[in-house]
Amino acid sequence: MNLNLKKQKLIEVIKGILPNDIFLSSIEDCAPYGGDWTRLTGDPLLVFLPKTTEQVSLILKTCNELKIAVIPSGGRTGLSGGAVVINGEVVLCLSRMNKISSVDNLGRTIRVQAGAITEAVHEAAAKEGLLWPIDLASKGTCEVGGNLSTNAGGVKVIRYGMTRKWVSGLQIVLMNGDVIELNRGLEKNNTGYDLIQLLIGAEGTLAVITEATLKLVRLPQKEKVLFFSLSSLLAVSQLFEKARKGPFEILAFEFFSQRCLTAVITKLKRSSKLQKPSEFYVLMEIEMGLGTEPEVLLESWLEEVLAAHVVVDGLMSQSSAEKREIWGLREGITESISLTNEVRKYDTAVAVDKVVPFIEEAETLFHSMKLQSELYLFGHFGDGSPHLNIVRRDTVDHETFINECDIFEKELYLLLKKFGGSASAEHGVGLLKKSWVELSRTPQEMAIFRAIKTAFDPQHLLNPNKVFSLL
Ligand SMILES: Cc1cc2nc3c(=O)[nH]c(=O)nc-3n(C[C@H](O)[C@H](O)[C@H](O)COP(=O)(O)OP(=O)(O)OC[C@H]3O[C@@H](n4cnc5c(N)ncnc54)[C@H](O)[C@@H]3O)c2cc1C
Repeated sequence: MNLNLKKQKLIEVIKGILPNDIFLSSIEDCAPYGGDWTRLTGDPLLVFLPKTTEQVSLILKTCNELKIAVIPSGGRTGLSGGAVVINGEVVLCLSRMNKISSVDNLGRTIRVQAGAITEAVHEAAAKEGLLWPIDLASKGTCEVGGNLSTNAGGVKVIRYGMTRKWVSGLQIVLMNGDVIELNRGLEKNNTGYDLIQLLIGAEGTLAVITEATLKLVRLPQKEKVLFFSLSSLLAVSQLFEKARKGPFEILAFEFFSQRCLTAVITKLKRSSKLQKPSEFYVLMEIEMGLGTEPEVLLESWLEEVLAAHVVVDGLMSQSSAEKREIWGLREGITESISLTNEVRKYDTAVAVDKVVPFIEEAETLFHSMKLQSELYLFGHFGDGSPHLNIVRRDTVDHETFINECDIFEKELYLLLKKFGGSASAEHGVGLLKKSWVELSRTPQEMAIFRAIKTAFDPQHLLNPNKVFSLL
């Protein structure tokens, strides 16, 4: 059946069983749902905006019967093309399913629908002095379903781990329309395979997540944000080593290059209060100890760092406004470098003790290839997740840029393999990194991946051609 016939047939069937206001059919109305932050985009066959799990179930069951492929989507802030339409698929957007129930203080959990915005979950939990600790710069737009499906990382992984640690129940809908409650919020359940963990990070290829029970932790008390300039990557590593032994808990340890800071300052009109700029910057958020005189202990730690000449300059937030101001410099990087130019992003992962040599070799590689594009370095130093971003210069045309990225990418991933790293730390594989998955996985693992996909979705209709190929 060609795409037009499929569309007509689907509308015909759906009109009889679902209200008219839950789908969009014109090319113009559907267009915004065809892509994500990668700027890759395609034309959806139809877009569904369901309000209930029952509607999700009916949509999937119908598409399964008509053999029509479906792409689940959330806030479409994904950076690897997981929600991008590639071949006239239907988009199933969960954004209208955004209910957040009240906090269960006894179990320290919160039940939410998949379309709940991440920041709205933070706000609901904060009213009870609690936190869902998944913190990323896109939190005002991304949704819980997207966070779970990408197993999002973010800036607090060093303290709390990835999204998968903060879930105790999922409601999912299979492609054939079956609704399944997984784990029912139990903290302990050792009856066989852990299907929740299989669904987390599956990038919408196994089932659609419609609800989740999220685990919460108490909000940190007495946090401080420290901001340093440093002259080399080695100094960043030395500061991290000292911070690991510091009289506090590290909540975030983020680094970025001078080029990133300049982009945020010039393009987003933000400013840095550091007096002495340098090659690299570290933003460190800490939770001070609860014992006696934590401020005194922090002061003496800072004196030690300054005396050892590890940092060039540093400052500590004195108010919530200052905390937000410093975080704005780090959180504005992705936005500022993608505002006007194309970007190819690499969210690499290596063991923490390999971050410095890996970045140094990757930088040498980039410069030795004499590429015309620019390299922007930043990322989650404390969890071994440096992000390399290649940004097109105005003087370089689109084709040259893509060509340069493809050439560099091949060499970068070979280097990554040498360091025993992973091609995706946290953004997922989606479309962009599909050819590189096998670099981080063995043939035996790939065979298991394919068998799992077929067990959940025998006709291969759910987010097809993403993450890995079935052949
Ligand atoms: C400025 C900026 C900063 C970012 N920083 C980080 C960061 O620090 N760490 C990080 O990990 N990511 C980061 N990201 C990437 C992105 O925000 C995350 O991957 C986020 O988790 C995606 O959520 P979303 O709702 O936008 O998902 P989408 O982009 O809509 O979808 C992502 C994937 O999940 C699937 N999916 C979505 N909803 C469902 C559902 N209900 N059921 C099944 N599958 C579903 C989609 O099919 C797709 O494969 C950043 C993005 C931006 C723009």
